[in-house]
Amino acid sequence: MERRLIEEAFPIAEVSKESRREKNIRQGHISTLHIWWARRPLAASRTTAFAALVPAPKDQKEREKLLERVKNIAPWEFVSQNNEANRKVLEELRELIRNAHGGRPPKVLDPFAGGGAIPLEALRLGCETYALDYSPVAVLILKCVLEYPQRYGKELLEAVRKWGQWVLEEARKELAQFYPPDKDGAIPVGYIWARTIPCQNPACGAEIPLMRQTWLAKKANRRIALRMIPRKPSFPSPSVPSPLWGEGQAEGSPFLLPRGEGQVEGPPFPVPRGEGQGESPFPSPHWGEVKGEGPSDFPSPHRGEGLGEGAKPWVDFEIVEGKAIDFDPEEGTVSRARVRCPVCGATIDDDTTRKLFQEGKAGQRMVAVVLHYPSRAGKFYRLATAQDMEVFRAAERALEEKRQKL
Ligand SMILES: [Zn+2]
Repeated sequence: MERRLIEEAFPIAEVSKESRREKNIRQGHISTLHIWWARRPLAASRTTAFAALVPAPKDQKEREKLLERVKNIAPWEFVSQNNEANRKVLEELRELIRNAHGGRPPKVLDPFAGGGAIPLEALRLGCETYALDYSPVAVLILKCVLEYPQRYGKELLEAVRKWGQWVLEEARKELAQFYPPDKDGAIPVGYIWARTIPCQNPACGAEIPLMRQTWLAKKANRRIALRMIPRKPSFPSPSVPSPLWGEGQAEGSPFLLPRGEGQVEGPPFPVPRGEGQGESPFPSPHWGEVKGEGPSDFPSPHRGEGLGEGAKPWVDFEIVEGKAIDFDPEEGTVSRARVRCPVCGATIDDDTTRKLFQEGKAGQRMVAVVLHYPSRAGKFYRLATAQDMEVFRAAERALEEKRQKL
């Protein structure tokens, strides 16, 4: 068999450059159809397929010319711009391939076709193409890339648009209630949580949020971080039993959450279904809304306060931007598997931390909410509030109901 071009020479540098560039292309690229983990760049697939299908010219000049063609078809624009010049080049390539195979399109088989880059480019080069994969996900992707668009054309485009819209609307109907906009129109798009463990210093006992660092945004022009503010109980009022704070506040309760929780064991967020319904569970400002006030400014936003003997220190957060960041957000509470209490400075080693998790003494705490304004670019942040937790619980309940139904 005569040697193919790829066996003699290949413009690796140029093709690599175009392959890298392709990674940033979002419009019209098959990578936007579905994630595939080992997707080959189309540039590399197209050029290697071509160079493997045409013979290597003996003549040096002819070979240089052919290599030049390979370089020219590597850029994304060669396939994204469906103009006459590109169509003409493509037809010439197909002819070169046919001429090398007795005037007929060769058969190309990709037995591990995955995301479909190689068979798609073989199809483009006019080959009789076969694609296989063991994974049913890959097979579905391959059908959507190689078969359906060619078979159904515009009809498919319209159907995808229509049903995509339908899914979006149905999802919105069901899920919008769990993303209620703020008064200023901001829509929550993410929640930042921290795992917590109780400080092991018996004189402290604060719930320590486990955070390696506290950056929310860390760009040259936009720096936002969470400041941790240690708080200590200063309102010992043992004679006022609070039904809201008192409930479930067992020793070692892993949750530094406002009001009534204090579920001690079980999953990290063991909120009983239906809890908090029908009553007003937020009797006071809570940690999410405390902004830099001293601990003695008002009584008891926190579960630790107002409990008399059970009162424990806790950690508040504040969102700080730009020059106001006068601390190092790289310094969180966890470093090399050691946890440091931001209130008392005691440390907890990794074995103890693991044990606390195993014993169900770890908890979690919603710290901040990521917001999007429909009219503004970028993300914004605010501290989580009791209302956010309320919404979270409602979503948990709805999910549970859904699970039951399914
Ligand atoms: Zn402590």
